[in-house]
Amino acid sequence: MASEKPVEVVTCTAPVNIAVIKYWGKRDEELILPINSSLSVTLHQDQLKTTTTAAISRDFTEDRIWLNGREEDVGQPRLQACLREIRRLARKQRSDSHEDPLPLSLSYKVHVASVNNFPTAAGLASSAAGYACLAYALARVYGVESDLSEVARRGSGSACRSLYGGFVEWQMGQRADGKDSIARQVAPEAHWPELRVLILVVSAERKPTGSTAGMQTSVETSALLRFRAEALVPARMAEMTRCVRERDFQAFGQLTMKDSNQFHATCLDTFPPISYLSDTSRRVIRLVHCFNAHHGRTKAGGIHV
Ligand code: ADP
Repeated sequence: MASEKPVEVVTCTAPVNIAVIKYWGKRDEELILPINSSLSVTLHQDQLKTTTTAAISRDFTEDRIWLNGREEDVGQPRLQACLREIRRLARKQRSDSHEDPLPLSLSYKVHVASVNNFPTAAGLASSAAGYACLAYALARVYGVESDLSEVARRGSGSACRSLYGGFVEWQMGQRADGKDSIARQVAPEAHWPELRVLILVVSAERKPTGSTAGMQTSVETSALLRFRAEALVPARMAEMTRCVRERDFQAFGQLTMKDSNQFHATCLDTFPPISYLSDTSRRVIRLVHCFNAHHGRTKAGGIHV
């Protein structure tokens, strides 16, 4: 039993996911509930991944976390929310199975070390892979077996999509407590083997505006964002799901590009405006359109986060 060992250690890896219908904006900052549903493609872990080791021990006197070799403040609200949620689930699982409601291991502190093998906070979804991996590692080390959407989501919204491979939707849900705001697989990774994702790193610098702050300003100031979330995304989610199920690359590629453009348009509509595209990324977009025009059909679709 876990509680009898002096130290329990697990190591997990998690993939990055790239949204093709974008998530931008929360309706609840605390619970991390989105203003619209989103859909993403989970990438293979051969190239980009997060590796997280979690250890619990009765000898640890406090929770601690290291990210890419540097110790971080474990008091960050999102980390705390993940830790609280996993311990709540562990407690619930115990009481549901009528076991001792507080086994020793549950009171143990945890040490976490996480490494991304790609640039952190640069727009490559490190927060998604990072918090999915954290949720999974914590669940394993504390013996939690339930759905981890909520734990991952409390770290970073898009992290719930990295819990699954293939094509994944994050249903926005309607409930105020967020219990129906969960990730679900639309199609498994083997569904569309011809699909290739190219990642072009145009800059490995930190993004000029972090996602959390950026979204907040957009929700407060962009009427276009509200219109998109309410009037456009529901139909786009349905159409994107169809494209994936039928492997319709023409429509998939075009909708991916249009949704990405619309996301950047809402950034420009934000006040003060936010800008994530650089001259290099604009040149890449032009190249994709020249390439498709040359072939007379959509062979490539640019996704810009
Ligand atoms: P990105 O586009 O890379 O997701 P964000 O600014 O949205 O950029 O998120 C970056 C933040 O996510 C980091 O500052 C850190 O707080 C968190 N993060 C990144 N990687 C990890 C990880 N492996 N484990 C835990 N948290 C992580």
